[in-house]
Amino acid sequence: MGQSPRVLTAMLAHRFCPLCATPLVLRADSECGADGSQSRLACPEGHWTHWDNPLPVLAALVEIDGRILLARNAAWPATNFALITGFMERGETPEQGVARELKEETNLNVDAISLIGVYEFIRKNEVIMAYHVQASGRISLSPELAEYRLVAPEKLKPWRAGTGYAMADWMRARGLPVELSDWGAQAPIDPTSLT
Ligand SMILES: [Zn+2]
Repeated sequence: MGQSPRVLTAMLAHRFCPLCATPLVLRADSECGADGSQSRLACPEGHWTHWDNPLPVLAALVEIDGRILLARNAAWPATNFALITGFMERGETPEQGVARELKEETNLNVDAISLIGVYEFIRKNEVIMAYHVQASGRISLSPELAEYRLVAPEKLKPWRAGTGYAMADWMRARGLPVELSDWGAQAPIDPTSLT
């Protein structure tokens, strides 16, 4: 029987029950879609179910001295810059998680933080909680990040996906014109925006 990419990915990642080590089976829950597209991996003895819930991700639109910090992940193409993101850790609030990620990835400190909004990122089974952060300190990137740019807010070019929508909403709230582009086409190449 054909399986959705979501189920195939789950089958590769989870093969045995964590309690009894019996191979997991696909089970179509009554609460799930009748077509079986929402079937879940589960222990046939009923010990465990792989719910596959979305993972919360933190994103920070970081403002420092009136400009917005965009960073390029070392694994990304040279044109792709984005917000600071990271996964929450157990026992921390979203605000604490943002402060921790920002310190780890840029060495900056959070002076003020406010929620921009919550955004879907269904493609990666994630939910994005996006914050505007006013930060200070001396920028020092973690090895995870290759380079950064400081961009004037009116020169930001948000993209049509997850954190790009957060950037666009933040700009609209400040009365800035917004033109959404495709991911990767938003590189802030204006010379005045370079650090
Ligand atoms: Zn089991």
